Amino acid sequence: MKMKAAQISKAGGDFELVERDIPEPGAGQVRVKVEACGICHSDVLVKDGLWPGIQYPRVPGHEVAGRIDAVGANVTSWKKDQRVGVGWHGGHDFVCEQCRHGDFAMCVNRKITGIDFDGGYAEFMIAPASALALIPDELPAEEAGPFMCAGVTVYNALRNSGARGGDIVAVHGIGGLGHLGVQYARQMGFHTVALGRGKDKEALAKKLGAHRYIDTDIADVVKELQNLGGARVILATAPSAKAISPLVDGLSPSGTLLIPAAPNEPLTMSVLPLIMGRRSVAGCYSGTARDSQDTLDFSALAGVHPMIEKYPLSRVKEAYEQMHSGKVRFRVVLTMGDR
Ligand SMILES: [Zn+2]
Ligand SMILES: [Zn+2]
Repeated sequence: MKMKAAQISKAGGDFELVERDIPEPGAGQVRVKVEACGICHSDVLVKDGLWPGIQYPRVPGHEVAGRIDAVGANVTSWKKDQRVGVGWHGGHDFVCEQCRHGDFAMCVNRKITGIDFDGGYAEFMIAPASALALIPDELPAEEAGPFMCAGVTVYNALRNSGARGGDIVAVHGIGGLGHLGVQYARQMGFHTVALGRGKDKEALAKKLGAHRYIDTDIADVVKELQNLGGARVILATAPSAKAISPLVDGLSPSGTLLIPAAPNEPLTMSVLPLIMGRRSVAGCYSGTARDSQDTLDFSALAGVHPMIEKYPLSRVKEAYEQMHSGKVRFRVVLTMGDR
């Protein structure tokens, strides 16, 4: 039996649509019949060979939603036909020091879906059971996909940020991550401030749940945030060092600037405001499969939806270009079959 897959066969190569044998799950693994797979900015790591040691050919894709199609040996807690997602975190070894502390996301031998093993730009994929998140019935596959990386990254960042109900949480950038960040911040009960470029994003930001919108093209963002008392958290989703660096001055005492997407340039900021206000700057890393499942459950409960453009797998080149151009609003999702 054969399946269609979109692979990259060398660093900087183009997508190739190929027929492959449908893979069999080994011990501790399941086979997922993929229904949808989001295209993430990080897929550029595969396309352009930016991940050290990556092996080709490789099928990218770590925003996978589908259904368990076959179960390998020693898998006790999952069964055929369950709806599951597979995200960036592609499993862990359970035995390293970080795992022994229960911090599976920081496993020194963690695997990345679509980088260390083939991902979801295909009709079927093999996933470790430890990388599976159960998808609630209410969520369609094409919405569940983007929650597996973009969603869990901002959801986890916000829920672990220390902000409490009513605290000011600003979301900088209203793009793939930011449009979800605004929805989560609102639904978690924060005083939600969206920071975007241009007047035209205001209506959207408010529709997504922002209580306030600050146009960073014309406003003095720091001053406006300080007029509100300062932000307990700023989630900086636009990967621009120049735009992010000054935001620390908009934090309240003990506030945190959280950064889920890496700018190419280093940040430049003066440290005195960090010291005097006990402020911090922190990276936020995706999360485990269980974190992803919490993201899916919360999204279904609270009515959080990604805004997506769908493309069939056969149009993968166009879909990737659309993501890469930045023209997309807001996530591109590949769908399998005729959908
Ligand atoms: Zn991603
Ligand atoms: Zn480990």
